[in-house]
Amino acid sequence: MYYNENTTTYLDGKWLLAEEANTSLYAQTLHYGNGVFEGIRAYQTEEGNTLVFKALEHYERLLDSAQKMHISVAYTAEQLVQLTYELLDKNNLKDAYIRPLIYLDPNMGLTPVENAHVFIAAWEWDKYLGHQLLNVTTSSYCRPHPKSCHVEAKTVGHYTNSILATTEAKQKGYDEALLLDHEGFVAEAPGANFFFEKDGKLYTPALGNILPGITRKTVFELADQLHLEVVEGKFTLEDVYAADSAFFTGTAVEVAGIAALDDYKFPLEWEDSLGYLLNKMYTKCVTANEPSKLTLV
Ligand code: PMP
Repeated sequence: MYYNENTTTYLDGKWLLAEEANTSLYAQTLHYGNGVFEGIRAYQTEEGNTLVFKALEHYERLLDSAQKMHISVAYTAEQLVQLTYELLDKNNLKDAYIRPLIYLDPNMGLTPVENAHVFIAAWEWDKYLGHQLLNVTTSSYCRPHPKSCHVEAKTVGHYTNSILATTEAKQKGYDEALLLDHEGFVAEAPGANFFFEKDGKLYTPALGNILPGITRKTVFELADQLHLEVVEGKFTLEDVYAADSAFFTGTAVEVAGIAALDDYKFPLEWEDSLGYLLNKMYTKCVTANEPSKLTLV
């Protein structure tokens, strides 16, 4: 699914077949979850070339995550962007999901590890969570406490919380979970940020207990072009149960509409919602040759 016998990956300065790239079973990342990663997408633009959407921002977040986890990386964000384009080229990929992973050498102790490995893989991947509106349930798990870890870092180990939440939601028959923060305010999905619409305004949880999503930021930019207000704050489930419409944002999910949260069905038709409009604008933006200079409306 992620590779075949012809897939090339990047590992520590070498281009290796995916089937031949491997690592030690004693890696600290494997035992204790100390490693960092990114999820990035490349899109074939309207003119036929391929652009990695907000590549530099993703790699800057990766290096920032690494620094927070005491991992030193011997690459600049610019070098990693360059390697990503080479990787796409070597695999003949035009639309792709890109997964850089920084993982550590063997260490059974709880101390920083000097040697960090850089692995980058890419594959064709459809919109994660699919194209249908989602039925979402509030998770019984909360997002990690911001004083127990760096919530704004994309750390490997944090995703055990995400796996528990998604698994619970799916076992109950839902498509995805919505997690609250440690204070009981709405936070985010296991792998996406959350927005809701009420009376023509957009609302989204403020930074602090969530991953600062790059798609979230892109939605702010798109909303600005529509002269739409986006209110960042602390919101309760009751606020969401009174909303007109809601959606998730993320590199993998893009802008994904939500049909219902628990027993509450969002009353506004998706096609009439701001989320729908932003979804269309997002697609235009990621497939534009110069996303930043694009006039979308
Ligand atoms: N929150 C979490 C927990 C995530 O894993 C992701 C995906 N990276 C997001 C939000 C959305 O972030 P982005 O828009 O940068 O992909």
